[in-house]
Amino acid sequence: MLQQLRDHARETALLASIEGLLGWDEQVYLPPAGGAWRAEQLAYLAGQIHRRRTAPQLGEWLAELRESDAAADPQSDVGCCVAQLTRRYERETKLPAELVEEVARVASQSHHAWVEARTANDFAGFRPWLERTLDLQRRRAEAFGYEHSPYDALLDEYEPGATADGVGRVLGSLREELAPLVRQIVDSRVVAPSELLARSFPVDRQEEFGKLAAAAIGFDFASGRLDVTAHPFCGEAGPADVRLTTRYQEHDFGDGFYSILHEAGHGLYEQGLPDEWYGLPPGESISLGIHESQSRMWENLVGRSRGFWRRFFAPCQGVFHEALADVELDDWCFAVNASRPSLIRTESDEATYNLHIIVRYELERAMIEGDLAVADLPGAWNEAYAATVGVTPPNDSDGCLQDVHWPSGAFGYFPTYSLGNLYAAQFFDQAEADLGDLEAMFAAGEFSPLLGWLREHIHSVGQRVTASELVQRVTGQPLSHEPLMRRLRAKFGELYGFA
Ligand code: ZN
Repeated sequence: MLQQLRDHARETALLASIEGLLGWDEQVYLPPAGGAWRAEQLAYLAGQIHRRRTAPQLGEWLAELRESDAAADPQSDVGCCVAQLTRRYERETKLPAELVEEVARVASQSHHAWVEARTANDFAGFRPWLERTLDLQRRRAEAFGYEHSPYDALLDEYEPGATADGVGRVLGSLREELAPLVRQIVDSRVVAPSELLARSFPVDRQEEFGKLAAAAIGFDFASGRLDVTAHPFCGEAGPADVRLTTRYQEHDFGDGFYSILHEAGHGLYEQGLPDEWYGLPPGESISLGIHESQSRMWENLVGRSRGFWRRFFAPCQGVFHEALADVELDDWCFAVNASRPSLIRTESDEATYNLHIIVRYELERAMIEGDLAVADLPGAWNEAYAATVGVTPPNDSDGCLQDVHWPSGAFGYFPTYSLGNLYAAQFFDQAEADLGDLEAMFAAGEFSPLLGWLREHIHSVGQRVTASELVQRVTGQPLSHEPLMRRLRAKFGELYGFA
């Protein structure tokens, strides 16, 4: 029985990895005229994969395996497979086929309408699409079922086991301390030397330096690549085939370099998952939040630290001699950590980022729970931005139309970004307690102790536990906003002179 299940899963994993490769190629190499056929290929594969994941035969195997002793412990290999595959099977089979098709159709039309509305700053034109999308997502939540809030049912897709109330509590505590910290940064009137990052950084040399840094932190280029795309992501096309992407602008060092470190963090997680379980739950990542904890750790806690730049600033000056010959290490460290409230989430810094997420979480939860009508979204958005982030959008394009998530139906996705930042800080504290002074190691070019720790405590676990169980198991504490706040207060207090 188990062997049949594994064979079935292996074939599904073959299809899914082909889908991954085609999806990566679509973003990196596909000529524009090839788009229509590629969409057919991807839709065909998605249909095949969905059919396999909802096959009645699979349901029967799982029902039988659930009765066996081997599956009694959900943290064992077999138990984890059976519990997680059952969970997925039940979720996918709860949705009527017509709803699945309607969601896919509306998502693609709505995406198209959003691109136009954003360019034209036309919320009214987009509003009917968002209303339809929201209605479909609420129908999905009803089909999945929930105990307290329909938002729970949607959140569960991205962060299994998380609830609206649990997320609301920790984000609420975070906001209470983070908003005043951001105000202190603004009130300090200290200005970071951000212009250093806008000097001339030739693109070919950015790639060279980015690859050097990714390899130094442990990304294995024998089983991975780095390519160029419009919106950076990390994809995978097999157990030893991880695809990082970034983008380069000659006059923005930070955009390209920190996208590489961020995606390499995701890639290190993929490369650390147990190969022998590829395509099955013990070989898969726990949640989007845990995935994001890995990317944010390498991007921010490692790559923006002084220790990191004590090791890499001299090589960086060597590669970009004309731009950096006259720059001091302290100024560079300040430049890569500059903070300022801004309108656009994807361009925001380590301190203000979570405020952007808190706004989205509150608004999308209110929409799903029926407390906020789509028609009232622009006003609610602008009010929330003024109160929480400290800036007021001049138009909807730079306001509630800025993100791709809602137009594509991804309600419940946003909180995973902040959860990732919170998990990262809490894991990092524990790694430091276990290993000693991590920044001193970074300064000496030693990244393998931290990577080894992540491999042992997080990557190798697969889906044997939920995200909140993992946090408790690894750190001995439930998730808290405090490790992140301590870190941000110390870093920004020092940089902006109010420590
Ligand atoms: Zn990410």
